[in-house]
Amino acid sequence: MSNQDLVEKLKSTFRKNSTQLKVFNLLSDREWHCRSCEGKNVASEQYAGGGGIQGLQRGTKIRPGLEINTERKFCNTCQKQTTWDCWTGKIKAANAPANIPSELVEKILSVYSYVDVIEQRQRPRHEIIIDHRFPMERWGNVEETHNLNMSETEIKQKFQLLKKDSGGNLNEVRS
Ligand SMILES: [Zn+2]
Repeated sequence: MSNQDLVEKLKSTFRKNSTQLKVFNLLSDREWHCRSCEGKNVASEQYAGGGGIQGLQRGTKIRPGLEINTERKFCNTCQKQTTWDCWTGKIKAANAPANIPSELVEKILSVYSYVDVIEQRQRPRHEIIIDHRFPMERWGNVEETHNLNMSETEIKQKFQLLKKDSGGNLNEVRS
């Protein structure tokens, strides 16, 4: 799917005039955008939250999650350091926590012995997020069912553990 096709297809999944559509329209150019000035113009209070960036990252049953990078940068308009977001142009499986059955969550945690991929530290469960390692190949896999008998190899191909505050991804493990 070309990027333009992907953008159009994603746009068709939002409700008309919804906040998320406005936020997506802003981010669809894959440039960096300042939350404080640009975000406020688009969606004031909701820009960063579930109605905006966070919701876009998470995805839904009908829409994949977006891979969005977030950084602190100096904004010339705001004249200070602010938070900026940039869509990489990639999508990933929707990350609603409910998407991964709890038995599989247990299995993933034990395969990795509760060690996160970035700092390689063993962490208590509430500090861990399960992340889909690869963006979906095809959109058709959005409602991908998770096979409980997945092998260790498959688990390692599909998932990785992140430290909860490492940002971006919100597939929280509920304890
Ligand atoms: Zn700004």
